Amino acid sequence: TTKQLIMSEKLAAIGEITAGVAHEINNPIAVMQGNLEVIRSVIGEHAELASTEFQLLDEQIRRISQIVTKLLQFAKPEEFAGFVERYLPGKVIADCLPLVKHLLAKADIEVRLEDQATRFVFMNRTELQQVMVNLIVNAIHAMPDGGTLTLSARDADWDRSSGVEIVVRDTGVGMEQDVAARVFDPFFTTKRQDGTGLGLSISQTLVTRQGGSISVETGPGKGAAFSIWLPEAA
Ligand code: ADP
Repeated sequence: TTKQLIMSEKLAAIGEITAGVAHEINNPIAVMQGNLEVIRSVIGEHAELASTEFQLLDEQIRRISQIVTKLLQFAKPEEFAGFVERYLPGKVIADCLPLVKHLLAKADIEVRLEDQATRFVFMNRTELQQVMVNLIVNAIHAMPDGGTLTLSARDADWDRSSGVEIVVRDTGVGMEQDVAARVFDPFFTTKRQDGTGLGLSISQTLVTRQGGSISVETGPGKGAAFSIWLPEAA
């Protein structure tokens, strides 16, 4: 429809602007990072006196560059496309946990792994891991008072195609339906200054590029379950 066409033109324009701005921000960040190192070495042992401040600067600079990377990935996903591999998804899912261990411990979250998948999938490993980490970090954010995180994989057919379904389920705050309807929109976030609203949008791009799909089931106070379906690799 015309409305969809205008929307996709708008998104393309936003993508172009975003990519340009993100590229421009990268250089000053690198300069700041370099100079911080120089200052640290010039003041030598005095750096100890301001170790907290240095750490804060390091963290914030790293945060900016993470946001810039996300923006670039959103705007130019094709530039980031890694090579596609064939593998069982279970191992990749388990490999995500060490990456978020510190967050899980802080929030007192119990993890359950249910891997029954016997079919292979086709996707870049790092990309699947990135999608999983996005979903897991969101799940952790949704359970500030602790809860259970379930990661499962099983063989599942969709629309008469055989494939694998990976589910990330939390027992957190959940969402109203009007929020759930917008979570995959670029820049949609309810986290104010702490969110970019790009995590799920990028995740959707990565999954659909492999012929898969991603969806959510949720309700207020009912937690959320994000399902990724990927076609079986022949
Ligand atoms: P961000 O995390 O930066 O806000 P995302 O695209 O990852 O960006 O998520 C968009 C929004 O979707 C979040 O701000 C939040 O409102 C909602 N959301 C995502 N995952 C969950 C979840 N597991 N439980 C509740 N709300 C969620």
